Amino acid sequence: MIPVSVTGVKIVLRREERLVMRLEFRIFPVAATGPLVAAFIVASYSQATESPPTPPPKRLLVIADHSTGNQTAHGASSHAVATIERLGRQSGAYVATIRTDMTLVTKGEVWGKGDYAKGGPKASRAATLDHYDAVLFYTNGETDLSDAQKRDLLAFVHADGKGFIGVHSAAATAYGWPEYGVMLGGVFDNHPWKVTAAQIIVERPDFPAMRGWSTGMTLTDEHYQMRAAPYSRGEVDVLARLDPQSVDLGTPGVHRTDRDFPVAWIKRYGKGRVFYSGLGHTDESWDDPRVQSMFLEGIRWALGSGGGEVRPHPMSDAGQRADMTEKR
Ligand SMILES: [Zn+2]
Repeated sequence: MIPVSVTGVKIVLRREERLVMRLEFRIFPVAATGPLVAAFIVASYSQATESPPTPPPKRLLVIADHSTGNQTAHGASSHAVATIERLGRQSGAYVATIRTDMTLVTKGEVWGKGDYAKGGPKASRAATLDHYDAVLFYTNGETDLSDAQKRDLLAFVHADGKGFIGVHSAAATAYGWPEYGVMLGGVFDNHPWKVTAAQIIVERPDFPAMRGWSTGMTLTDEHYQMRAAPYSRGEVDVLARLDPQSVDLGTPGVHRTDRDFPVAWIKRYGKGRVFYSGLGHTDESWDDPRVQSMFLEGIRWALGSGGGEVRPHPMSDAGQRADMTEKR
């Protein structure tokens, strides 16, 4: 048996780096005539050179501005944007900047005020649209966007190929700005059933945002009804809709004679990607893993880093088939 002496081996592993440890044995006699041999173990480590470079995280600008709309209806928007921020961090899909004002929705210059104004002693310029990969609206009312800001937002999506995500009352936003509704894919009509449980028909089970969803599952939320236009199944790819047999179609305010009540869709706007879901009125919705997963994957797709083609289809394609298999 060869006695082995080990001294001074110190291994430091840093969490963010992939390290490779190499053990090297050197055995040689220390005295030609004696039985002793000494062994040295040399441990060394080096940073692995084969690690793929980590791409910088995608950047999401989250706007939760209700200042121009209903001041009491959407208290859930705080929990919503906090959840959206956390989902991005935890998954590594994106880093969110949360604002409750529209100031950064511009391609122009935004500076601070006072000492932080342009030319001031602490001049501070904000990162605006071009810094981001997508913008998310959980908004309500006409907004205080200027005409130039509106043009910049449309160009950000249509010409630059960036993303736009609409949450719930984002469809009850900027009624007086028709092109916004065209970009989003629909405009809010009303919510005839207020907060109610409804069954879901999944139309794109292959799309990542629908992972964990299944036809026949129940979601409780303030389900929306869209106006007749600009919502069109020729423009939007509906991921899921309400099962019309699970809601009371005789409720006052039900206008859609086609019984088409989309819950979530994706669409193209020029070169850009748009994802919308009417879910998210209540705090409880944001704690539902199915709702969280849908928004995370929808946002990931709108940011340009998730797969999934846009395939607009008539309701009968997947819907009626699902109706026939799910209905008793
Ligand atoms: Zn609402």
